[in-house]
Amino acid sequence: MDSQGWLKQIRHLPSPNCDLRPEGTSIRLIVIHNISLPPGIFDGDAVIDLFTNRLDWDAHPYYQTIRGLRVSAHFFIRRDGQPIQFVPCELRAWHAGASIWQGHERCNDFSIGIELEGTDDLPFTEAQYDTLIPLLRTLRQAYPIEAVTGHADIAPGRKTDPGPHFDWHRLQA
Ligand SMILES: [Zn+2]
Repeated sequence: MDSQGWLKQIRHLPSPNCDLRPEGTSIRLIVIHNISLPPGIFDGDAVIDLFTNRLDWDAHPYYQTIRGLRVSAHFFIRRDGQPIQFVPCELRAWHAGASIWQGHERCNDFSIGIELEGTDDLPFTEAQYDTLIPLLRTLRQAYPIEAVTGHADIAPGRKTDPGPHFDWHRLQA
């Protein structure tokens, strides 16, 4: 990892949807999400387009519901396990929204967001876990990570991802 928090040897697609973390913030949480666009469709690049503000909002009816949304995550892991980094870890990505973890609000300030290509309704792929687990190890070595949590756990009632199929037990190995 370089000094800005870009991982080496993975694809980088810089997103404009990021900014500075508050002064003196330590990166201590990792948030797991799922996303696919349109939901349940895995063969296009719409998520990449969303995170880089290039999505054609008129290309699918679902996109009307998210028109104008400006979001990002540090990492996106595709169904085939390919990781893409959009935001360097030192910067704040816009993935968690209104959220609270152990009494601390605005989890974007102090977290790293990882999006798995998927839905709440389907298992994630072996290839995704094969990428995710070493990625988590690398991040834990670089930052004082205290927990890995789900988006639903920090935004209950508002978010449901990564959903019931995400296998938390695999992270304990
Ligand atoms: Zn999410």
